[in-house]
Amino acid sequence: MPERLVRFRAPDGQVAWGLVQEQEVLPLLAPPFGLPHRDAPIAIHERLPAGPSLALADCEPLAPCRPSKIVGVGTNYRAHAEEMGRTLPSVPKVFLKAPSAVADPGSPILIPPRTKRVDHEAELAVVIARVTSRVREEDALDHVLGYTAANDVTARDFQRADGVFARGKGFDTFCPLGPSIALGLDPSDLRVRAWVNGELRQDGTTADMVFSVPELIAFVSEVMTLFPGDVILTGTPAGVGPLEDGDEVVVEVEEVGRLHSPVFDRDDRG
Ligand code: ZN
Repeated sequence: MPERLVRFRAPDGQVAWGLVQEQEVLPLLAPPFGLPHRDAPIAIHERLPAGPSLALADCEPLAPCRPSKIVGVGTNYRAHAEEMGRTLPSVPKVFLKAPSAVADPGSPILIPPRTKRVDHEAELAVVIARVTSRVREEDALDHVLGYTAANDVTARDFQRADGVFARGKGFDTFCPLGPSIALGLDPSDLRVRAWVNGELRQDGTTADMVFSVPELIAFVSEVMTLFPGDVILTGTPAGVGPLEDGDEVVVEVEEVGRLHSPVFDRDDRG
């Protein structure tokens, strides 16, 4: 199993990152970002001082990073392109998702009023380790802290009606992230799945991606500087489908973990 980093709220209310060690968390005394270029992310715990360990069960899980931006990629799985009736892109179709959409593991996805169709999109999320600008594909993975699971929740009717994605993908709570950041993974063939109320809805592998993780990092960093904690959502496999009030959606990325989100109508929550 890969090593895992979590961001959590401790019983005393402090928020920190920590390394998971079986049923305990070893809190880091500094954020796990900005390590020098050649450092392997897996060496984090040797480089950062840590406090006394806490019981994992006492720590409230939080989204594992606070991105300055979330870069999404449209139609990046062959089977999903087919189900949406789209042709395969010749360059990555990138879009921005609002950082305010991030939701903690276990916290609800809130369906806004007036939308008729909100879909889950299970995705592998890349968490950037340090300032990343115009990197070559062969160097791209040196800029990755690790990987987490994401749900690129989408109001499909608004996305289609607008032709741009800011509203359809930008609502608060539309980007559950977590539960942890897995370090030192090879992202080239990881199973990505989603369940709704226990029923398997999406089941793909990152091997089916049109553009690989290194290709995406190189492409995006040609356009915009990526900062520590920024996130690239790498696209979703086939099987996207609707979420409704009362549902429970789970996204699982192999070797990363399971991300649970209950779903509620926003009006019901006041
Ligand atoms: Zn997506």
